Amino acid sequence: MGEFELIDRFFASLGAVRADAVQGVGDDAALLAVPAGHELVACVDTLVAGRHFPLGCDPYDIGWRSLAVNLSDLAAMGAVPAWALLALTLPEMDEEWLDGYAQGLSKIATQFGVALVGGDTTRGPLTISISALGFVPAGTALRRTGARPGDLVYVTGWPGDAAAGLALMEGRLQGQGADKGALERKFRHPEPRLLFGQGLRGVASACIDVSDGLAQDLGRLAAASGVGALIRARELPLSRALYALTGEEAARGYALAGGDDYELLFTAPPSARAQVGALAAKMGAPACHCIGEIVVGKGVKVLGERGELPVPRGWDHFSA
Ligand code: ADP
Ligand code: MG
Repeated sequence: MGEFELIDRFFASLGAVRADAVQGVGDDAALLAVPAGHELVACVDTLVAGRHFPLGCDPYDIGWRSLAVNLSDLAAMGAVPAWALLALTLPEMDEEWLDGYAQGLSKIATQFGVALVGGDTTRGPLTISISALGFVPAGTALRRTGARPGDLVYVTGWPGDAAAGLALMEGRLQGQGADKGALERKFRHPEPRLLFGQGLRGVASACIDVSDGLAQDLGRLAAASGVGALIRARELPLSRALYALTGEEAARGYALAGGDDYELLFTAPPSARAQVGALAAKMGAPACHCIGEIVVGKGVKVLGERGELPVPRGWDHFSA
């Protein structure tokens, strides 16, 4: 099987069928019709084997994950996803791997209405780069810049679960049974919070998705907004599985610094409290918890029962 047969067989018509993909796979570039009155929202994320997922990870999970992490960025902007491009670098022609990968990618693309409209295929160390495209009504996108002192800080879902799941998969953490399975699934199968993000338009003052660790990503949101942030350790939502497996203190560490959560971290004025609650209920979304507030100043502080706690560092590819 050559390159063109590979594209044809696995990627030529993957995901949702969309009339606004005027030209998908097959020409030099895709032609996409952005609806009138909307802005295009674009992002790209690269997954390197052995760095972003363990070597030997199920190709189906890699397929799901490679689009999920991008859709999470669109969710954080409040965007509606539409199209994706895939740059795939493979060490060798491996039909079984490709089949599993394409199935995982197809599953999430179809679920969220995304059409794969183009890409590139090359040979080299396993690397997957996906660009996701979507749109928002002009002027309504969620940004990192709008947080104001007095705003409340919220997070969706159960931060820390995915990082503990990865630690279990890599043998850095021991566990078994249903809790182990549940945590590993959070790493393998992140659910981008798209509907929740769209619902936050006009409600949230700022938003970011948690990929590198809650405390670090809150630091980025705060810096972009020119404010400080305060997290109350007691308010951090800890899943029952995480708590059971690691105990409270380690669970808080995973929740604050773990990364790979792909949950939404956002701020909203206290006057929007009911709207946020209604949204969480209506979306049938994961729980959404208030974990702290925005303050005058800069940086992130974590308050424990007996005063300030050290802020654990999150993920940085280029840190020493
Ligand atoms: P070109 O040489 O003009 O860049 P290619 O021969 O690389 O085009 O690709 C042919 C078509 O297949 C293009 O429409 C391209 O977007 C698409 N394509 C290539 N690789 C992939 C892939 N991995 N997934 C989806 N589409 C792909
Ligand atoms: Mg060309």
